[in-house]
Amino acid sequence: MRIVIIGGGIAGLAAAIALKRNKNEIVVKEKNFTNNNSGMAFMIHESTVRNINSLGDIELDLNNHEINNLILKDDLHTNHVKINGWYAIKRVKLLNFLQSQLTADEYHENCDFSYFQYEGDKAIAAVFKNGSIECGDLFIGADGINSQVRNSVSEAHFFPNEINEIVCIAKYKNENIHDNTFRKYLSIKKGMSFGFIPVSNNEHVWFLQFDRGLYGSLFEKSRKIETAFSPQLLSEFPKEIKNIIENSDLKKSHLWKSKELKLLNSYYKDNVCLIGDAAHGSIPLTSSGVSSGVSSAIELAEAINSSEYLYSALSTYEELRKKKNSRTIEYAQILKLQFNSPPDCLGNYHLPLFH
Ligand SMILES: Cc1cc2nc3c(=O)[nH]c(=O)nc-3n(C[C@H](O)[C@H](O)[C@H](O)COP(=O)(O)OP(=O)(O)OC[C@H]3O[C@@H](n4cnc5c(N)ncnc54)[C@H](O)[C@@H]3O)c2cc1C
Repeated sequence: MRIVIIGGGIAGLAAAIALKRNKNEIVVKEKNFTNNNSGMAFMIHESTVRNINSLGDIELDLNNHEINNLILKDDLHTNHVKINGWYAIKRVKLLNFLQSQLTADEYHENCDFSYFQYEGDKAIAAVFKNGSIECGDLFIGADGINSQVRNSVSEAHFFPNEINEIVCIAKYKNENIHDNTFRKYLSIKKGMSFGFIPVSNNEHVWFLQFDRGLYGSLFEKSRKIETAFSPQLLSEFPKEIKNIIENSDLKKSHLWKSKELKLLNSYYKDNVCLIGDAAHGSIPLTSSGVSSGVSSAIELAEAINSSEYLYSALSTYEELRKKKNSRTIEYAQILKLQFNSPPDCLGNYHLPLFH
């Protein structure tokens, strides 16, 4: 088959590598240029690492990326939790690793998807805003939470957008801060938490999660995130957070207005299907975006490779993913509830990690 993949994020790249292995002809069409694909970092579980390494002949180097402690703290309690098999990795490192397994003919940038051309109910070509047209037998929408391809597949409904996140990297001079520990502080004021994770010997990725209803105007009105970090706001957290903020270039911080997709009715229509955040974007509290993106790509490729007919492959894929995505959505709702009203005892806290 000739397969056109729209979106060159982690799910799209993983699908491309998995599908080309079985002699399909693939092309990935990405809206942005590589250098814009900065993003920050994420936690990935070893099961996802295994999936990523199973795609090709090279292995992701995760030396010095392991995270095996989680410290949850509020004003009254500190809870140490041992976590197994988790790694923190920068988004750009994972993207570069996956891109290196595709050729220039297989990966095209600056291609913003516009619409499909149809023959009857079947899509025959994808048209891009730069004028390029790609014909194919199968079209995969891997274009993220704001997917355009999704409009051709299923109606999307979202949970109310309650939790936003600011993400940034703190960089220290000549300090080895890597202690393999993910720390998350819950503010005394409910509806805000601050987490930070080492991503190299001298860098932390940090995030401030806040209830949009309570704090949205603070960050949106000021527009400049650096001015929103007032001493009063910082006083909500332990002192070490002040140090982290001071070592961060807040101009490079990213306000992530996360969207949480409800379970779609359908993940495919005829020969157009969805993977990754386009199919099941969930709130960032679960840290499950990469794991879902990679496993949906692999499961789609496996279904295609093992079925005689495309439609039965897509139906197998859909059935499998719906089950898994329902579980992620369920867990995300628990975390959201917990975010707005943290349990009295940190021992009852549900871990902000899901895979
Ligand atoms: C810039 C960025 C930064 C991120 N940073 C973090 C982070 O720090 N921590 C975290 O946990 N998660 C982050 N995420 C989300 C995380 O990468 C995803 O949840 C997960 O990897 C699933 O990936 P995906 O490929 O389905 O979606 P995405 O990673 O969103 O990739 C979708 C891709 O499709 C492209 N695209 C969108 N529209 C079109 C179009 N019309 N035509 C062609 N291509 C299109 C986008 O440019 C993007 O490259 C980030 C996502 C992005 C896009």
